[in-house]
Amino acid sequence: MSTVRLACIDGPDGCAGTVEPRWPGYGSKSYPRCERHGEARLERERETRRRYGSWDDERPEPEPVDFDPSDAGERWEAV
Ligand SMILES: [Zn+2]
Repeated sequence: MSTVRLACIDGPDGCAGTVEPRWPGYGSKSYPRCERHGEARLERERETRRRYGSWDDERPEPEPVDFDPSDAGERWEAV
């Protein structure tokens, strides 16, 4: 029996730990990453969600009804 060696998709720089299919924090697919890069990817995804909310959520700040983007050439951005 031979063991299939997976290559970390974020490697080879900075790899640490075993490389195995890891869930990146979204979707239903797993990608081969080492322990360190897998953790880093999850952390990045958590940070993104904390900042922008989940894709399924409604936007936290709705546009004001009287907001007109053509008014001042600005875009409404939820902070
Ligand atoms: Zn790696």
